[in-house]
Amino acid sequence: MPGLPIGSQSLMPEVMMSQFVVRAPETPSVPMVGSEARFPVHRIYCVGRNYADHAIEMGASGREPPFFFMKPADAVLPVGAGGGEMAYPSLTTNLHHELELVVAIGQGGRDIPVAQALDHVYGYAMGLDLTRRDLQDDMKQHRRPWCISKGFDQSAPLGPITPAAQVPQVQQMAIRLDVNGTVRQSGSTDQMIWNVAEIIAQASQAWALQPGDLIFTGTPAGVGAVVPGDVLTVWSEGLTPFTLRIGARVA
Ligand code: MN
Repeated sequence: MPGLPIGSQSLMPEVMMSQFVVRAPETPSVPMVGSEARFPVHRIYCVGRNYADHAIEMGASGREPPFFFMKPADAVLPVGAGGGEMAYPSLTTNLHHELELVVAIGQGGRDIPVAQALDHVYGYAMGLDLTRRDLQDDMKQHRRPWCISKGFDQSAPLGPITPAAQVPQVQQMAIRLDVNGTVRQSGSTDQMIWNVAEIIAQASQAWALQPGDLIFTGTPAGVGAVVPGDVLTVWSEGLTPFTLRIGARVA
């Protein structure tokens, strides 16, 4: 379909379901606020070290530019307003929470200018970038990829998405994570090093953004471990809060 802007067309050829040799995977999706319709997840991009106070607690100077990594789309764990539960993942004894504002892309594009970037946003949600911190430390030490520490199953719990027009204050929004009723992370989206528009512009230089992409925008200071039985409460000024219970370790 030449002539159509990138993002309004699939990059994949159309294939009939009956042509697949194994069962085709379902499209991961997330609930919307105020609608029965769901947001389909295409890719999950994440920004690393986007808050100086978190960069410093991780041993960096806080002056390095942020960067991207990814999680698989089906790592998303939709959590409705009624709350949710996840299994404590395998291979870790140091599962960390990272509280993050998440951007849901509604209109794709490449080389999107900062000034137009917010036009590409469908909505916002709160999410958790769960991390096997012990494996991440090991991967960093050996200069290996982070996939096993960041992209495991259910590593991206996400609350319902609110349409962007209902969140005009998204860049000056208090965000907070409580564990068992005690505040662990408390910050504001105005502390981001790259703001939402800059993140979209940067990401679109590296990838052709598509409708359905999610971008985790980084975490403020206060990351820490959770254990089976913990209840995490994710709150922000203007987005739907949610609770997530950490269940038993996966067998
Ligand atoms: Mn993160």
